[in-house]
Amino acid sequence: MDVQRKLEILADAAKYDASCASSGTEKRDSSDGKGLGSTAPGMGICHSYAPDGRCISLLKILLTNACNYDCLYCVNRTSSNVPRARFTTDEVVRLTLDFYRRNYIEGLFLSSGIIRSADYTMEQVVSVARKLREEHHFRGYIHLKTIPEADDALITEAGRYADRLSINIEVPEESSLAKLAPEKDVRAIRRTMARLRLKLDEAQDNNKTATKAKPPRFAPAGQSTQMIIGADAADDRTILDTSANLYGSYHLKRVYYSAFSPIPDSSRDLPLAPPPLVREHRLYQADWLIRFYGFDACEIVDDTVRMLPLDIDPKLAWALRHRDRFPLDVNRASREDLLRVPGFGIKAVDRIIATRRVTAIRAADLARLHIPASKALPFIVLSDHRPPSHLLDGARLAERFRPKATQLGFGF
Ligand code: SF4
Repeated sequence: MDVQRKLEILADAAKYDASCASSGTEKRDSSDGKGLGSTAPGMGICHSYAPDGRCISLLKILLTNACNYDCLYCVNRTSSNVPRARFTTDEVVRLTLDFYRRNYIEGLFLSSGIIRSADYTMEQVVSVARKLREEHHFRGYIHLKTIPEADDALITEAGRYADRLSINIEVPEESSLAKLAPEKDVRAIRRTMARLRLKLDEAQDNNKTATKAKPPRFAPAGQSTQMIIGADAADDRTILDTSANLYGSYHLKRVYYSAFSPIPDSSRDLPLAPPPLVREHRLYQADWLIRFYGFDACEIVDDTVRMLPLDIDPKLAWALRHRDRFPLDVNRASREDLLRVPGFGIKAVDRIIATRRVTAIRAADLARLHIPASKALPFIVLSDHRPPSHLLDGARLAERFRPKATQLGFGF
């Protein structure tokens, strides 16, 4: 099989993995004439290998889509009737360098089906990164998928070459994993995440205390994971509780949410239709609130409904459920409280705090602070604005923010 055909198969097989983004790593470049590549451009872009063959920033491929496991939600499972392919180490290295030189990509995202054993698969994945870094002095971004239960020495080596490592938690609940991916062991996944965390903490400590010699590097962009949404019956509260636990226990940089996409010849244990994509979007917004806005998962999701509303964002939904906390005086409120106002982002709050040190904030200032006035005004007091009490207490406030209903088309 030629490399072009392998690329078609193995890039297509990798497109279901959402857990890659090149943000947060150390800065490297080759402007000194040594090495190849840099991590500077394209930071924060979400990367993928598009189905039409275009590389978007990261070359995102599997080393092989052959797999010993039979995870029901996965197109690469052993019982799946798809063409199989396997790259050699040299083929992936060559592709990465070629694509990089042509300016198609900024780096590599490499995952693999599990063949022979966890150690064998991990060694194959590591060998690509080793060759890129050691022989070709590649300085672009590398994200490696880590195989749970792989030998500690292999994981250490993976961290030496990779910017980011990730292990997929797969689904939010242990009972679902047992049903959908019987060969996977949630304890093994979490054990490996814990090992990564220890190595990441150690590398960070070494960096802080290093005097002259550069300490050994370990995945400077940290570890991440992916959760498939909608393959099981887990509600949004369960998903966010799992995420909060993962962030707290293993210091993950990101939890990626990937809406389940139905696959050919799938099991009857899987839903026939994918969840609405907007659910994935709302989970990302809620995740953001937990990580940067001081919310707990239990605050974001209504305890009785246990699902995020799809028609309005989670912070607005929280504010509408907690109207007793508003209106908030923007010129006096604490940073923590300001972060809870609908329409107030982190940068806007920082600008507010800087501005109010010198002058009282008025309604006309909102545009300059990049705050959407229509969203924020019902919830805030400014030096020249106070929302009428009937507005904040009125049953119709929520309706103001809901998207307008549209007449369905008749198809003619
Ligand atoms: S281990 Fe499971 S999820 Fe991973 S490639 Fe194999 S079948 Fe797919």
